[in-house]
Amino acid sequence: MQSLVCTEPGKLQLENRAEPVRKKNEVKIKIKRVGLCGTDFHIYEGLHPFLQYPRVMGHEVSGEVFEIDEGSEFKPGDPVILNPYLPCGTCIACRKEKPNCCVNISVLGVHADGGMCEYLIAPVSAIYSAKGLTLDQCAMVEFLSVGAHGVRRGEVRKNDRVLVVGAGPIGLGAAFFASIAGASVTLLDVSEERVNRAASLVKNSVGVALNELAAEQLKQITDGEFFDVVLDATGNKNAMQKSLHYVAHGGTCVFISVVKDDITFSDPLFHSREMRIIGSRNATRVDFEHVIESIRQDLIPTDQLNTHSATLDQLPELFPHWIESRDSMIKAIVRI
Ligand SMILES: [Zn+2]
Ligand SMILES: [Zn+2]
Repeated sequence: MQSLVCTEPGKLQLENRAEPVRKKNEVKIKIKRVGLCGTDFHIYEGLHPFLQYPRVMGHEVSGEVFEIDEGSEFKPGDPVILNPYLPCGTCIACRKEKPNCCVNISVLGVHADGGMCEYLIAPVSAIYSAKGLTLDQCAMVEFLSVGAHGVRRGEVRKNDRVLVVGAGPIGLGAAFFASIAGASVTLLDVSEERVNRAASLVKNSVGVALNELAAEQLKQITDGEFFDVVLDATGNKNAMQKSLHYVAHGGTCVFISVVKDDITFSDPLFHSREMRIIGSRNATRVDFEHVIESIRQDLIPTDQLNTHSATLDQLPELFPHWIESRDSMIKAIVRI
């Protein structure tokens, strides 16, 4: 089968590889769409920690069931979405039903070969039905689920005032699901263009560009009280530390993004608010299913999220250009 292999940082190569063989309790997926995100760019650029090359990238995978055990709830031809975060099933996080932060997590497309090829084998428990979604919509479920998980972690409620810091794809996903939960959403980003575009896509939201006036604006929007829930999706240490200043008394800050650094904060700021600071990693079945159902109900303007598309054999040529233009990218989709 045709496979696109990242043989070393900066090098993508089409190879003919043997089709993988399925075992019991596994599904062989005929891949149709793969979404790209910052993780793939980091792998290509050699910036991903602990990554071993060669690697077939692609963790935002969807397609059709090709082969599965008889008697399964799925049958060949069924459209499915893959949850690429494979848990060990026995560690402390798994025992607490938090497979998304499994101690021994293996992510298809990162720790093991992923979906930039024709067929992929995965445990049956890692696929969800995508009935009612178009193939392109399927390619967007994974990245939206990461934002949906952050919103669930922050326990966003109806009428909450929510601030999403960082209006890239993950922040946009968080903003959609905060809005769907009934919150009024403010988006904050360094790029005025990006924040306005994001705000135009999310119901009941406003965009604020980060400048000297931003803090005052955020204060005014909330009558001086600041936000019930702040969701950070910046991947920037300074922005994450600053986010804590926008949390209302009794409020919550969720760090969806991660930086390889220490985060520091003022204890009086934290203590006086009785603030909750919460981590949010990956996503679980609940989040995937919430996203799939929201797309089915037409609550996400998916047609406006697919900014870049290519076929597998176009990718070695296009990938370096896409990296350059990633600021204007919401979702790039590879069609297989
Ligand atoms: Zn991703
Ligand atoms: Zn585990």
